[in-house]
Amino acid sequence: MNMTSRHINYTLKLLFIPVVLCFYVGGLFSPDAAEAAYSRSELKRFQGSITDHRHRINPRFKKKTRRHTRMIIVHTSELGLEGTLRVISKGKKFKNGRSTPGGHAHYVIARNGRTYRTLDRRYRADHAGLSMWNGKTDVSDVSIGIELVGYHHAPISKSQYRSLGMLLHVLKQVYGLKDRDILTHSQVAYGRPNPWFKKNHRGRKRCAKNFDRAKANLGPTWSYDPDVRARRLQADPILASVFYGTPGSAAPGKAVSAKRLASNIISKQNSAWSIAGDEYNAATTAYILPDGRALPGDRVGGKIGWSRLPVGTKVLLNQETRQVSVQAKSPVKLISGQMTAWSHAGQDYRSDSTIYFLPSGRITPGSGIRDWDDLPVGTRLMVGYKGPYEITRQKTAYKIAGKRYKHKSVVYYLPGGRLVPGDEVRDFNDLPRGVSLYLPLSPGG
Ligand SMILES: [Zn+2]
Repeated sequence: MNMTSRHINYTLKLLFIPVVLCFYVGGLFSPDAAEAAYSRSELKRFQGSITDHRHRINPRFKKKTRRHTRMIIVHTSELGLEGTLRVISKGKKFKNGRSTPGGHAHYVIARNGRTYRTLDRRYRADHAGLSMWNGKTDVSDVSIGIELVGYHHAPISKSQYRSLGMLLHVLKQVYGLKDRDILTHSQVAYGRPNPWFKKNHRGRKRCAKNFDRAKANLGPTWSYDPDVRARRLQADPILASVFYGTPGSAAPGKAVSAKRLASNIISKQNSAWSIAGDEYNAATTAYILPDGRALPGDRVGGKIGWSRLPVGTKVLLNQETRQVSVQAKSPVKLISGQMTAWSHAGQDYRSDSTIYFLPSGRITPGSGIRDWDDLPVGTRLMVGYKGPYEITRQKTAYKIAGKRYKHKSVVYYLPGGRLVPGDEVRDFNDLPRGVSLYLPLSPGG
């Protein structure tokens, strides 16, 4: 910036001060601002509660001191807590045998607000990848990385916002940063040219595009993308409208909330690109077709073609796709290191027609679940079901389920906890006592 423009800028700022002050004083009396202040004891308690996870880092990770800290980058991990901590500390594994050495964030914040320190904040974490902000490339070199457990198409929890707000408050003080220095990964990542973009472009990542700054007590931010404005990068229309508002859109916050959350289901408006960014054709991105088939992203182009991917296809990031394909065909889903209740059921995870079978033997409908990440690995679930209907001598499977009693969509619960689809039950006359069945809500399912 030269002297003249600085001078003009200064004059402009002076003019704006009364306006800004009015807003600020007004804000002090709003309930939001009252919540905004963290007491000293609260901050102290929060800092004392951070779980040290640094020793779990992959021994292959090379610690390198970061020389400058100019930004804090917020991510969504696209996994549950267990998977997130594993990938962040130990690294990502790829189908071709390649892997990363871990150290992918400084902090991880679980759905219940519990915060983990995964790497000493003085070291460089490899979290932003190919990235640029305001002309500076390799954002990892000048930033702290914070991972929120969750998905860019699922709401971030209240407890996460609470912890994140406090963590940001502390880090801003430590590094002398401003609210506008806090950005999401989707804002700073960029991709190389591809079929949709002739030039380097935004949109490589969708990470934390659902991040609502106000809920983390953050104020002023960028009203434009400096690298797009300077023509260093091409804009991604989805991210541009989410973060900077498109002309004609209403005030940021309200109008964008639906766009921010969108979903991970392919529709006419929601393409593979808009859901997965540059990972659309990665082997670790799974496509679950409406008929239950699953395909890894690197095979969709050849097998189906990107323009012919059916509406209703579900897109999941960070998957080992072989496991997904086994899962997709069965009405009984399994919670694993990569598949959470959210990746199986989406917003229906709390619905009464989503039924969970915990490893402890407890059975509960979705309404008995507090959060999709509260369920242990090994939990089974069925989405879109009603039941149980107990089978007795008088009330046979046929009487309950009708003609479809042998269909794979009717699921039998056997004493001891086995769940067996109707087409796998060998002898209906020889069912043990205490068998019940579950019926799909939609007869076709
Ligand atoms: Zn990210």
